[in-house]
Amino acid sequence: MRIDVVTIFPEYLDPLRQALLGRAIERGLLSLEVHDLRAWTHDVHKAVDDSPYGGGPGMVMKPQVWGEALDELCAEGTPRLVVPTPAGRPFTQALAREYAAEEWLMFACGRYEGIDQRVLDDAARRMPVDEVSIGDYVLVGGEVAVMVMVEALARLLPGVLGNPASAEQDSFSDGLLEGPSYTRPEVWRDLAVPEVLRSGNHGAIDRWRREQALARTFHRRPELLEALPEGALDKHDRAH
Ligand code: SAM
Repeated sequence: MRIDVVTIFPEYLDPLRQALLGRAIERGLLSLEVHDLRAWTHDVHKAVDDSPYGGGPGMVMKPQVWGEALDELCAEGTPRLVVPTPAGRPFTQALAREYAAEEWLMFACGRYEGIDQRVLDDAARRMPVDEVSIGDYVLVGGEVAVMVMVEALARLLPGVLGNPASAEQDSFSDGLLEGPSYTRPEVWRDLAVPEVLRSGNHGAIDRWRREQALARTFHRRPELLEALPEGALDKHDRAH
C-alpha cells in the first residue's frame, strides 16, 4: 500500500518510521512518502496561509498552494484523499479496515483554522475525499491525527502484525471492548490471575472473556452495545 502525507512539518511524521511500522516500510509492505507543502509556494516567505474571508480569528491555508501540490502529487493516479478535521466524520476501526484495503491514500494535514474548503471541493471532482475526525477535541494540526490513522490502518495490513489473530481479537473487531489481560506471575502484590485463565479449559476461558468484554462494554461504552447488529448476542450473552 502507498501512503503520501502533505504537511508543513514533515519531521512531525518521523515516528511513523519506528518499530512495527518502520519494519513494515523496510519490508515493502507499506510505502510512506512525506511532502513539505511549502515546496509548492512561490514567494520568499513560503506563505501557506492568509486571513479568513468574513473576518474572525486565525488564518486559513491558501488554496493555490494546496491545489498545485495535489495536482502534481496526483498526476499519475487517483488516491483516496483523507483530510483530518475536527468537523469530519468519526474515525473508527471500521474506517481503518476500509483504508487498509485501499491501494493509495493521501493525507492532507491542515494547520491554523484549516484548509480553504475549495481545495477539498476541487479535489472531489477527481478523487474520493474524506473529511475525518479522530475525536471530539481540537488539536493544533492534522499531523498527529494522521499518525493515529496510519498506525491504526497499517497494523491491519497483511504481514504487518506477527500474529494476525491479535487484530481479530482486539477491541471493536466484534463490536465490543476487549476484556482484561494477564501474564506471569500468578500472584502479584496479593492480586491473583483469575482462576479460569489457569484452568486450561478453553471453552470456559472463551466464555469468561466474552463475559468480561460484555461487562466492560456495558459499563464504559453502552452505546456500542446498542449499535451491535441483529443476532450479534447469543442466548448466553443475553443471560449475562
Ligand atoms: N477551525 C477548526 C475547527 O474548529 O473545526 C479547527 C482547526 S485545528 C486548530 C487545525 C487542524 O488540526 C485541522 O485543520 C486539522 O487538520 C487538525 N485537527 C484538529 N483537531 C482534529 C481532530 N479532532 N481530528 C482530526 N484533525 C484534527
